[in-house]
Amino acid sequence: MTDSKLYIYNTLKRERELFTPMHPPFISLYVCGPTVYGNSHLGHARTYTAFDVIYRYLLYLGYKVRYVRNITDVGHLENDADEGEDKIAKKARLDKLEPMEIVQLYTLAFHKNMRQLNNMPPSIEPRASGHIIEQIVMIEKIIEHGYAYVSQGSVYFDVQRFEKDYPYGELSGRVTEDLQHNTRELDGQSEKRNPLDFALWKKAAPEHIMHWPSPWSEGFPGWHIECSAMSAKYLGETFDIHGGGMDLLFPHHECEIAQSLGANGKQPVRYWMHSNMLTINGQKMGKSLNNFITLDELFSGNHHLLEKAYSPMALRFCLLQAHYRNPIDFSNKGLQDAEKAYDRLSGVYLSLKDMNWDGATIQDDTEKLLSSFEKECIDAMNDDINTAIVISNMFKVSPVVNQFATSGKTEGVSKETFEKFKNAYCTFYTDILGLIPEEDTTQNNEDFGKLVDSMLEMRYEAKRKKDFSLADAIRNMLSRFVTLQDSADKTTWKYEKKK
Ligand code: AMP
Ligand code: ZN
Repeated sequence: MTDSKLYIYNTLKRERELFTPMHPPFISLYVCGPTVYGNSHLGHARTYTAFDVIYRYLLYLGYKVRYVRNITDVGHLENDADEGEDKIAKKARLDKLEPMEIVQLYTLAFHKNMRQLNNMPPSIEPRASGHIIEQIVMIEKIIEHGYAYVSQGSVYFDVQRFEKDYPYGELSGRVTEDLQHNTRELDGQSEKRNPLDFALWKKAAPEHIMHWPSPWSEGFPGWHIECSAMSAKYLGETFDIHGGGMDLLFPHHECEIAQSLGANGKQPVRYWMHSNMLTINGQKMGKSLNNFITLDELFSGNHHLLEKAYSPMALRFCLLQAHYRNPIDFSNKGLQDAEKAYDRLSGVYLSLKDMNWDGATIQDDTEKLLSSFEKECIDAMNDDINTAIVISNMFKVSPVVNQFATSGKTEGVSKETFEKFKNAYCTFYTDILGLIPEEDTTQNNEDFGKLVDSMLEMRYEAKRKKDFSLADAIRNMLSRFVTLQDSADKTTWKYEKKK
């Protein structure tokens, strides 16, 4: 370990800050989860992989992290607005299913995609619909403190009243006068006093399927209140880190801050962290623009924009090659370059993990390169989680490891340095970046080897019986997975990752 300290960029303060947890060694981390009305796309992979690595790094530093990531299953209306149909209810209507069937279907699909990407599950995964009471109690507090009003059975947050006591717009940098200017005038029919006010509770229209009793009406909570209520319940009124994609800065996170200040009089979050967007042709990938590629499509290659299928690990590697606060634009070339680079890195990891020190000499440059590896990687992670630099450090040492592998000797480095380096490299590859070498699952699988051997025996038998079409069929099938080498008396095989 090194004595450098973790700095992270705090979106609220607009600067890199030394990270000091409220109650070490415990860390409270909340990340806004998905609205489960469709399959996850590359944009979701971007944000959740970024926070997975942050979570993994905090664990590596020895912290005990309570990681809460919610499931939004109610209250998120079309266009992120206060009017319109609930996204989940709409999908249920179109697919002729119960809303909770939609929620179950896409929550399971989301979990499957997260496992494919090797994203660790959160410690708690609360659902908005399971926390209606907590949301009602929080809304009551906000009304009691004068920051919300009831209007025709719905409850709205009173932004103007709130602004008399607290700043509004600090996180997103939006000024209410500008917001006011850009917002539609109220049409006289509106229940809101001011267009900037946002819904805490909505009275359900007769056709609205998901509704609950409340002091104000049979209705449903607004989208923003769920995260305020659930983060406070599981992490406390003030907690360490809140994350999500940058698209959530306004209105979602801005409203979360206002709600928590309005209810509890405390800033809810000490460090706000936001990952940048995954874009396609420079535009945010998302459901609303209908420009998304789902993860299932990416992994199967089944989308007109894809030249081929890409593995979950190739995508993970591609995402981690960029700093989490920089945008990533989708391209086949980007993914294919990442795939090749990831293959090379995995090759290094696979040969290093089984390598033992047996050097006889020490060369200053090799010793220096390998002994500084761990510190340089930790420094990069401590510099606002710079995975891009970690990966470039891993490439910097590759020629040395490859040289060890080809010569069969770990020449030029002391035993102590080699062992420390090997341990650090493997830890960064698997535990912190969360990569899994793809060859591992097949190449090193004993059963796979036995299967290939028995098929080769069958082929030999077929040839002996002069059933050449069967022998060829077996050969063709095996060639999809392994490279075969026939000689006069035997056939050998070698596993090679087939593209
Ligand atoms: P949603 O399902 O739209 O509610 O989004 C769930 C999470 O995914 C949020 O943290 C979003 O910020 C994030 N997200 C959605 N689209 C993208 C994108 N194109 N790039 C990065 N993150 C995204
Ligand atoms: Zn949220």
